[in-house]
Amino acid sequence: QQPAINGDFYDLGTDLLPADRALQLKVRAFMEKEIQPIANHYWNKAAFPFEIIPKLAELNICGVTYEGYGCPHRSFIMEGIIAMEIARVDASIATFFGVQSGLAMGSIYLLGSDAQKQEWLPGMQQLKTIGAFGLTEPEVGSGAAGGLTTTATRHGDTWTLNGQKKWIGNATFADVLVIWARDTADNQVKGFLLRKDTPGLHVAKMEDKMALRIVQNGLITLQDCQVSELDRLQHANSFKDTAKVLRMTRAGVAWQAVGCARGAYENALAYTMQRKQFGKPIASFQLIQNHLVEMLSNLTAMQTLVFRLSALQDAGRLEDEHASLAKVFCSMRTRDVVRGAREVMGGNGILLEYNVARFVADAEAIYSYEGTKEINSLIVGRAITGHSAFV
Ligand code: FAD
Repeated sequence: QQPAINGDFYDLGTDLLPADRALQLKVRAFMEKEIQPIANHYWNKAAFPFEIIPKLAELNICGVTYEGYGCPHRSFIMEGIIAMEIARVDASIATFFGVQSGLAMGSIYLLGSDAQKQEWLPGMQQLKTIGAFGLTEPEVGSGAAGGLTTTATRHGDTWTLNGQKKWIGNATFADVLVIWARDTADNQVKGFLLRKDTPGLHVAKMEDKMALRIVQNGLITLQDCQVSELDRLQHANSFKDTAKVLRMTRAGVAWQAVGCARGAYENALAYTMQRKQFGKPIASFQLIQNHLVEMLSNLTAMQTLVFRLSALQDAGRLEDEHASLAKVFCSMRTRDVVRGAREVMGGNGILLEYNVARFVADAEAIYSYEGTKEINSLIVGRAITGHSAFV
């Protein structure tokens, strides 16, 4: 009898509280039943499976760490496990979910007024209201902290927003878009909640991506958009506040990377056990086993790291550099794991139907978003040396 396919080699899942373990298995069962059969099809079409949103909502996992507004108020470890389990089957759905639950809801939860939280969070928690997070611009990615060119000018109780945002996940169908813009009066970055029908707001779907093709990324143009002061995030006063959201979500992206690696590893391992060459399963060859063990070593190191990362978060001790280190390490190692998975599958490794090719492509996007390797390394470098190497 063959051993079970299991990417949790150090059995970290069994250390979870029984209720957390039960939710992990519930999310896994949902992903395997509802998403696995359709993922390649939608990825190929670069389309979003809107029909899954109500079923995803039933899991009650959106805004899982937040307190109030219908949110479950569970641990950051639980949040990480959820991100991992979703990405283990499909990294695009994990990204859709991360934008909704982390970037968009997180901005409102961490930086919104009570009235703003009351207005938006309950609907977003139930996935009835979809959110997006617009920070990156066509000409400003890594340098967003000092370089945003989208402007916000105040006249009385109304702000006028002008500029462009690129890469914005969920933007093509979002009901509310968190837009970061530079206040022309004090030059600080402020956050605004734009309703989808705001005059002057245009969203064009970005086409021809080679990764995360299910995610609908938008190129947003803001042309004299009028936004009420009541829709300005009341506790977002500078980019330091934006960074509070990114710290939290970067930890989640590290978990997404682990999920992506785990999905590829488990699918590749299963393949090597049933694929025969020279009259034997390829899993019996020493060189194939070496590839598998390299993948598993990386995967196990990543998983151990993110559990500790979230334990720090649960203890209120997470710093930017902790999240950045995890994001750098996991997104690099995930690239190695998916490449190994593709390698042990030979030619079938580049066919979508064998369920590794999608992970290989998607790992490239995880590697670059929410801060590239270089930018997250500079955040860690600044913390350990005391010298900021940012330009
Ligand atoms: P650039 O900033 O142009 O960087 C290019 C290269 O230069 C990188 O290797 C970078 O590391 C390097 N570099 C830049 N500065 C330095 C430096 N000082 N030192 C050394 N190297 C440096 N953004 C949003 O706001 N909302 C979203 O929902 C969103 N979703 C995304 C989804 C996907 C699939 C992708 C790919 C991106 C998404 N982004 C989103 C944007 C993402 O956060 C940016 O791509 C990322 O921050 C990098 O910016 P950039 O692509 O403009 O690269």
